[in-house]
Formats: sequence, C-alpha cells, structure tokens
Amino acid sequence: MNSRSRGLGFYVLVIAMFVCLSFVWKGMWSEKQAFMTYAEFLNELENENNISGIHIIQNAEVPTGVVEVTLKSGVTKSLNVSDVKEIETLLADEYPDYTMDDVKRDNWFMTYMLPGLLVLAAVVVVIFYMNNQVGAAGGAKMMNFGRSPAKLSSDDNQIRFADVAGLDEEKQDLEEIVDFLKAPGKYTEVGARIPKGVILVGPPGTGKTLLAKAIAGEAEVPFFSISGSDFVEMFVGVGASRVRDLFAEAKKNAPCIIFIDEIDAVARRRGTGMGGGHDEREQTLNQMLVEMDGFGVNEGIIVIAATNRVDILDPAILRPGRFDRKIAVGAPDVKGREEILKVHSKNKPLAEDVDIEQIARTTAGFTGADLENLMNEAAINSAKAERKFILMDDIKEAFVKVGIGTEKKSKIVSEKEKKITAYHESGHAILFHVLPDVGPVYSVSIIPTGMGAAGYTMPLPEKDEMFNTKGKMLQDIVVSLGGRVAEALIFDDITTGASQDLKQATKIAKKMIMKYGMSDAIGVISYDNDDDEVFIGRDLAHSTRGYSEEIAGTIDKEIRRIVDECYKKAEKLIKEHEDVLHQCASLLLEKEKINREEFEALFA
Ligand code: ADP
Ligand code: ZN
Repeated sequence: MNSRSRGLGFYVLVIAMFVCLSFVWKGMWSEKQAFMTYAEFLNELENENNISGIHIIQNAEVPTGVVEVTLKSGVTKSLNVSDVKEIETLLADEYPDYTMDDVKRDNWFMTYMLPGLLVLAAVVVVIFYMNNQVGAAGGAKMMNFGRSPAKLSSDDNQIRFADVAGLDEEKQDLEEIVDFLKAPGKYTEVGARIPKGVILVGPPGTGKTLLAKAIAGEAEVPFFSISGSDFVEMFVGVGASRVRDLFAEAKKNAPCIIFIDEIDAVARRRGTGMGGGHDEREQTLNQMLVEMDGFGVNEGIIVIAATNRVDILDPAILRPGRFDRKIAVGAPDVKGREEILKVHSKNKPLAEDVDIEQIARTTAGFTGADLENLMNEAAINSAKAERKFILMDDIKEAFVKVGIGTEKKSKIVSEKEKKITAYHESGHAILFHVLPDVGPVYSVSIIPTGMGAAGYTMPLPEKDEMFNTKGKMLQDIVVSLGGRVAEALIFDDITTGASQDLKQATKIAKKMIMKYGMSDAIGVISYDNDDDEVFIGRDLAHSTRGYSEEIAGTIDKEIRRIVDECYKKAEKLIKEHEDVLHQCASLLLEKEKINREEFEALFA
C-alpha cells in the first residue's frame, strides 16, 4: 500500500470519529431536559398562573407525545405521555391556550444514512488495509475469497493447430470439438451428443495446454484457464464457490472452453484423505461434478482437463457425460521432435551447419517444452557470443545445459576430488560403452553441475523404446555401479560420492522384482502398490501391504542378489579395460570434458 492511500484512510477515520463524537454530544444535551411526573403536571395545572405556556409535540403515527410545560420561572419541564388525545381533552378545560405540533423529524439523512455510511466507510477502509496487508504477505485477496481466479485469455489467443507440432492423431481427435464449437447446430440437428469434457493425459511439457488453447483458437471461442491447485485453498468452501463462479462465467460466454490444468489436485479419488474424508477437496470435486451434470449436453461449454496421473483420478469424473473422452499426449517421437524443433526455430536464424534432423535424433525423451527450452538456450548462447545466428555448437552447449543443468566452471574443486571424480565417471563411461543396450557415451565431464553432482557421464539415447527389457535394466544397474567400482579399484578407499548411483541401482532392482515379475524367486506377481504417496491415507487406513513378512524377506534377498551380481559384473568389465580407465581419467583431468569421438578413440 502506498503512503497516499494510507493517508486518505486515516483522514476518513478521523472525520468519522468526530462525527460520532458529535452525535454523542447532542445526545448528552437532550438528556439535560428536566422531566416531571404526571402528578407534578396536574399539580402545575392547578396553579395555572405559574405557567407561561404549554406545548405538545405529538407523534402523528402513534398516540404518544411529549408535553412541554414552560413555567414563569423560565424552566421547561417535559412529560412523556402515552395518549396525546387524553391530554388534549384535559387541557381543553384547564389550559386551552396550549400549542401543538407534530414531532420534528430529524433529517432522515442525518439520522439513518449518515451513521450507516460512516460505519460502511470504516469497514471499507479496514478491509482495504487488511487486503493490502494480506496481499503483500500471502498473495491472497480477501475480497476475492469465492471468486474464481480463472483467467480469460484475451482475443489475441492466436494459437492454432499449426502451432502444435506433431500430435497429429490428437489433433484429429479434437477436430470434431472445434467443429462443434463453430457450428453446434449441425450436431444438435441430428441429435449427436458431443462430449462435455475431454481429459488430456500426459507428462508435463508435452503440449496439453497448447492443444487446449489451439482448440479455442481454431474455433475462435473464449478460453478460460485455471489450475486445479487454485481451487484448493486453505478456507473451506472457497473451492466449491470458485467452481460455481467459473461455470457461471463460462455460461455467460458460451460457446467457450474451460481448461483445468492439474485436475488431479482436485479430482483425486475420494475417501483417501487422512482427515475423515470430508475435506475441502471433496467438496470442490462434488461441486464440479454437479456443474458438469448441470449444463445441458449442447450448451456449448467444453471442459478440457489436463493431468499426468489418470490412475489417481476419481472414477466418478470419467463417467459418461463428464470427462468421457480421454486423449493421451505423450512425449514426441523423432518425427514429432523434428517438427517441434522446426516450430521453435521459425524465427531464429540458423547457421547452415545446424542439422534439425540430427538434433531430433539425439533428443529422445525430450518433451516439447524441453525442445523449446533447448532452442531458446541455444539462441541465448549465440546472443552472448554477439552472433546474429545460431550455430550447431550453440545447440550442443544448450543440450548439456538442458539435460544436465548448467556446468559450474567457477566452483573450486581440489585436485584429489578431481582425480576421484575422473575415475568415477570413467568407470560409468566404460560400462556404457561396452554394454550392448546402453550408451553410447555423448560426453563425459568432471565439471561440477548445478545440481550438485561432481561430474557426469551423459549417454546418447539413440532409440525411442516402448519397453524396457530385463537385460537392459540389469545393464542399467551395472552402469550405475561403475563409478563406485572404479573408485574402489584405484583408491583402496571409497567415497560418499556414489550414494545417488547406489540409490538408482537399488531402485531399478526393486522395480524388476516387485513391479515387472523379473525374479524367479518371487515369480510373476506384482507387489507394486503404485509406489504412490497420494494413497498413503488409504494405505494407512486399511494397513494393507499386500504381501507377507516372508515375501518381504525374499524381496530384500533378491534385491541384494541382483545388485551383488551386477557389482561383480561391473568389476570384471572395468578390470578388463583398466588401461582405458587410466587413459580416460587422465584425459579428463587434462581437458575436464571429453566428447564421444575423443572417448571412443581410447578403445582403438
Ligand atoms: P503441458 O500443458 O503439457 O505441461 P504446455 O502446453 O504448457 O505443456 O507446453 C509448454 C511449452 O512447450 C509450450 O508453450 C510450447 O512452447 C512447447 N511445446 C510443447 N509441446 C509442443 C508441441 N507439440 N509443439 C510445439 N510446441 C510445444
Ligand atoms: Zn556416478
């Protein structure tokens, strides 16, 4: 809050206080009037010549009134009477000179409006204060408690299907929704039921928001977007009222699209909450279901939701008439990546050595957002070098940064640490190279990364694979143990640097046994309980681990066996290539970072 508005509020408060005081003051004056009893009044009437005047103030609507008797001595006393008529008949005999008039009404503005306005002003000022205070502290707006924070994208939502690269089948599926929004009549005439809700399922950054925006853009309808987490606030009932508000707003703007990002934040399976179940989230979800059931099939509102976890969604939201259309949006394949790269290099001048196809091939697993980030980092690199176009080298540099995190050249590392890291990474690299299903090595480095690793060995994913095989998973374990093996072999002491590797190895072994049935001792049974923390409430409630103590013991033994065998294999392979290990480590110490060609030359 700036000082000017604080000053204003202050003045309003001061004025309000003055006016209130003046009311109290006036009240005190009127109290000063002297009263008399009926007996006194009759008494005064008897000594008529004591009286200089009698005045009746009557209240026209009711029989009551006030009789003011002014005595010769100048004193005025008043008497409250319950029936003015009675006094009038009495005075007609005793004192016919009395005067009478109606109650002087106070100006209604002064009596009723002004105090009300003042109170209102004070309340507004206080809320204004608190609102700003809260706004500064927590980002919440008190006045907006129940209002939906949905954002209506402005008319310049120019995103079209053409801006969404790859995802051809997904676009085809959504085409009919665009068509419906454009010409609903065509569908209603033949009695077709268009889905009310579409749920886009896929990992973050794969273009779900982009797709939803493109539908709105193609159909030229308003686009309301809100995140599931916006509904879940600390105040009970806020979420539900936000949902109501959002749908009311959408109805006013139909046809339109409501986009709910991260719907899992509200639509998690019910009854899994720790606190008895009737929590805020459930109310919000119920309200959402009520709203979706409430609007007619062809009212022209289409709700598009995004999540990367359909498995944890409440089945109720997937019922017909709700989100009954499910579209998977996966990480792009080579062709998709190429197209996405083309979209994001559209207004970036590229040098002639930039090979988009090759970048697409070497970025398996990258999402659209990663690729966008990659091209952006490359552009930043070229700008830093005062170049007007992007070189392949800029992209390669960006590749490491996006994939690993920025290298921290400035971090000081002792010689001993460097040497250990060099052998550690060489150990990983050799195994990547000699094992058939992993690698090849893209680069090896002992430059510390932003993410706390002392170095890294980066393999090159060459294929997009749907399945993992048992063989490949075992090799993954062998590779991750390579660092530790090399350390143990060269320095007959070991460091703490391999903790992440060991964790990784154990995790893979556990998955093989418990999720994929790849261990004979356990058999082809899945003991995997979604490895999922969101169900912790449910799991606690029912305390089901799903397997016996005996099985748990066998699982532990199997993990140990697999990891031990892999360790032995890693040891054997690295010993076989000990010459390469030494060469690679000393090359790393010299250059800090070596690329694929330099590394592979060591095996020649
Ligand atoms: P999600 O909603 O799935 O998390 P977004 O739609 O927000 O992902 O994508 C983030 C960014 O990634 C987009 O703004 C866009 O720049 C880029 N992107 C993702 N997928 C694509 C795609 N298929 N084509 C073009 N750009 C994409
Ligand atoms: Zn390691």
